[in-house]
Amino acid sequence: MKAEKIIDIKINRIKTNEVLEEIKSFLLSENQHYIVTLNPEMIIEAQNNIKFKEVINKADLVIPDGIGILWALEFLKKKRSFSIKNKNIIINNFLTKSLLLILALCNFVYTFLKILLSPKYRKNILRFRTHGIDLVYKICESSSIKNKKIFFLGAGEGVAKKAAINLKKKYPNINIVGAEEGIKEKQESGNRNQDLIQRIDEANPDVLFVALGAPKQEIWIHENLKKLPSVKLAIGIGGSFDFISGKIKRAPIVFQKTGLEWLWRLFLEPKRIKRIYNATIKFTYLVLRYRINKF
Ligand code: UDP
Repeated sequence: MKAEKIIDIKINRIKTNEVLEEIKSFLLSENQHYIVTLNPEMIIEAQNNIKFKEVINKADLVIPDGIGILWALEFLKKKRSFSIKNKNIIINNFLTKSLLLILALCNFVYTFLKILLSPKYRKNILRFRTHGIDLVYKICESSSIKNKKIFFLGAGEGVAKKAAINLKKKYPNINIVGAEEGIKEKQESGNRNQDLIQRIDEANPDVLFVALGAPKQEIWIHENLKKLPSVKLAIGIGGSFDFISGKIKRAPIVFQKTGLEWLWRLFLEPKRIKRIYNATIKFTYLVLRYRINKF
């Protein structure tokens, strides 16, 4: 599978139907696989978390979950239009940073408006986006899941179970063999993880959806997949169970279609402001700095 890179992080720019084709072959194979649904916050986290970076880069598929990733791919693939290398410009650190920040903000506003105002650009860019939650729905309705067993792990108390009930109503043919809430920090090294592994193993699932938030879910998958030999495919799906269970309301379709679900989430959960700042401004700045450093 052909991969591109954003700041040394692997990414497969493929459409949802191609992701489903890959999943079909994963489920037919004898080997174990995991998929990462990548968002800008994860790229920021991976800059200081080497282990997380390795786990992402070792994944069988890393798919763009969000418009920020697709924007960065577009931005980084553009041809160099100017070079500042070898020029005798001495810019102090503060000035460079301020300049980059202004450029990042301008670029962010420009892209934001372009996405908002140009349906053609938006459609073109969003062809390759697959949200974790949409992937869960698509897998449940795909024929490759027929006769396969699914296990849900993650989210708060009762949330995975409620998500399982809702999905079963929507897709009566799916076979959900277990649903367990997420692991809290204190339990990670304790017995709960071992007990959990044992219970998942006994349920013998082919597919494991893991909703522990990034980077925890990806690292958990990487560390525990081998202990669960029946699992042919594990996917980190972030807050998907919260939405599927109805605990959190998903953004109206207009926000989804315009790639602005994060803005809706900010309305619902203002405390996410730091995360949104990271996913927008900080990420844009990081990508811009990376591109300028490459000149
Ligand atoms: N979560 C968990 N255990 C943890 C941390 C998070 O089960 O130690 C769950 C949390 O309840 C939520 C999901 O992981 O359901 C992550 O949600 P978040 O909003 O961070 O995901 P996003 O969709 O933004 O990636």
